[in-house]
Amino acid sequence: MDSYDFVIVGSGPAGMGAAFALIDRHKDASILMIDKTPYSTGGMRNDCKMNFTFPIGFPLEYWEKDEAEAYLDEVIRFLRPDILPKSNIATYQARAERLGCSLLEIRQTHLGTDGGLELIKRLQKQLEENNVTLSLGETMESIDSRARTIKTDKRTIGYRAILIAPGRQGFHFLQDVMNSLDVPFVDNIVDVGIRVETRIEHYPIVKDYYDPKFYFKEKVRTFCTNSGNAHVVREKYATARGDVWYSVNGHAFAATEDNSNGLVNFALLKTVRLSEPLASGQEYAEHLGLMAALMGGGRPLMQRVGDFRLGRRSKSATFNGDLYDFRPTLTGASPSDISLAMPSKILRYIWSALKNLDTIVPGILHPSTIMYYPEIKLYANKPVYRDSHFQVADGVFFAGDGAGTSRGITGAWASGIRASRGMEEYLG
Ligand SMILES: Cc1cc2nc3c(=O)[nH]c(=O)nc-3n(C[C@H](O)[C@H](O)[C@H](O)COP(=O)(O)OP(=O)(O)OC[C@H]3O[C@@H](n4cnc5c(N)ncnc54)[C@H](O)[C@@H]3O)c2cc1C
Repeated sequence: MDSYDFVIVGSGPAGMGAAFALIDRHKDASILMIDKTPYSTGGMRNDCKMNFTFPIGFPLEYWEKDEAEAYLDEVIRFLRPDILPKSNIATYQARAERLGCSLLEIRQTHLGTDGGLELIKRLQKQLEENNVTLSLGETMESIDSRARTIKTDKRTIGYRAILIAPGRQGFHFLQDVMNSLDVPFVDNIVDVGIRVETRIEHYPIVKDYYDPKFYFKEKVRTFCTNSGNAHVVREKYATARGDVWYSVNGHAFAATEDNSNGLVNFALLKTVRLSEPLASGQEYAEHLGLMAALMGGGRPLMQRVGDFRLGRRSKSATFNGDLYDFRPTLTGASPSDISLAMPSKILRYIWSALKNLDTIVPGILHPSTIMYYPEIKLYANKPVYRDSHFQVADGVFFAGDGAGTSRGITGAWASGIRASRGMEEYLG
C-alpha cells in the first residue's frame, strides 16, 4: 500500500495553500495530492481574480480580522500579486452611503482565465520540483480513520494526516465523509441570486474598480464581477438522486484592446439562513435549482430588464431582434420570466438592490441588461470542528469553500495554510 505523511485531496487553492505551507516547513515529509479531474487546481481555472482584503472570502464565524490578515500576508508573499489600481472610489462610496448601502474598498488582482492557467502550470511545476506526488484523475471515495487509509477509485492509500478540500461541488462527498466519521454538523447558509450582464458603458465603475464590492440592505451583495473579455457560463449540479440542474457563473479572459467583447457580468446574491422547521439549506437551494431547470427546459433562465419591467417574459425574439443591442454570452440559457421561478422575497430584495445600484452607477437598469437565474452558492453542512485548524476527526482536516471555511480563492488558500498548521501539530 502507498503511504504518505500528508495526503491532500483536492488541488484547488485550499489544497495548494496547504501543500506549499507543508513543503516550506517539512522538506523531508512525503506529500501526496490527488484530484479527481485530469487537470489541476480546481476553481483557479476560472477567471482567477483574487481579493486580498478581509473579510472578502472569509466567513466571519471562522475568522478574526488579525488572524485572517496574517494568513493573507502569507498568501501575498507566496503569490506576489500585482494589485490593481482604483480611482474615483470616494464618489461611489458617498452615493452608496446616502442610500444606506456601502462600497468596500479592497485590494485585488485579476489574472483572467488564461492567466490563471499559466499560474496553475507554474504551481504544478513547483510541486514537482519539491517532490510532491501529484495524482490527477484519481477520486477519493471513502475514508477509514481507524486504519488511517482512504480508498480511491484506483487504490488504498495510507496517511498520517489528511486534508480533504473538495470545493463547493464536493459538498455531497463531504457530507458522506462527515457521516462515515460521525462528525456532527449544522446546516449552512446558502447564497441565491442572479447574474447580471450588460455593456461596460452601462456599468462604467469597472473601469475604476475591477470587482466592486457593494453591500445592500437585507444581506444582498455584488459578487465576482468580470469585464473586458467577459462571459457568463453555467455549472452543472446533480442532487443526491441524480437530478441535474444548473447554476450560472461568470469569468473573463485577460482583456487586451483587440479581444474585449465590451461586456461586464456580476452576481447579485442574497444570503439565506434557514432555521426550523426546514433543516437543510442545501435541499432548499437544490429545489430552487430544479424549479429553474423545469422552467427553462433543463437550462438556466434569462430575462432582459426591459421585459422584466414591463412584466413580460423574454422570448427568443427579445434576444435576436433589433430591440436590444448585444447578444447574451451564455447561449445555453432559456429566455423566460425569472419571477415565475424565484422566491418573491429574494427577487424583491435583489430588485431593490439593483435599483440602488442604478442610482449609484446610473445605467445598469438599461432595458438591454440581462438577468440570468439561478446563481446559487452551495456550501456543505458546517462540520463542528474540533479545533481552530479545522480538524474533524483524528488527523482528518477539512478546508476550502466546500467545507465552509472560505468563499473565494485567497480565503481558500489561507484556510489550507491554517489546516496545514494543524496537520503539522497533529504529527508532533
Ligand atoms: C466560473 C467560476 C468563476 C470563479 N471566479 C472566481 C474568482 O474570480 N475569484 C475567486 O476568488 N473565486 C472565484 N470562484 C470561486 C473559486 O473558484 C473558489 O472559491 C475556490 O476555487 C475554492 O477553492 P477550494 O480549494 O475550496 O475548491 P476547488 O477550487 O473547487 O477545488 C477542489 C478540487 O477538489 C477536487 N475534488 C473534489 N472531490 C474530489 C474527490 N472526491 N477526490 C479527489 N478530488 C476531488 C475537484 O476536482 C477540485 O479540483 C469562481 C468559481 C467559478 C465556478
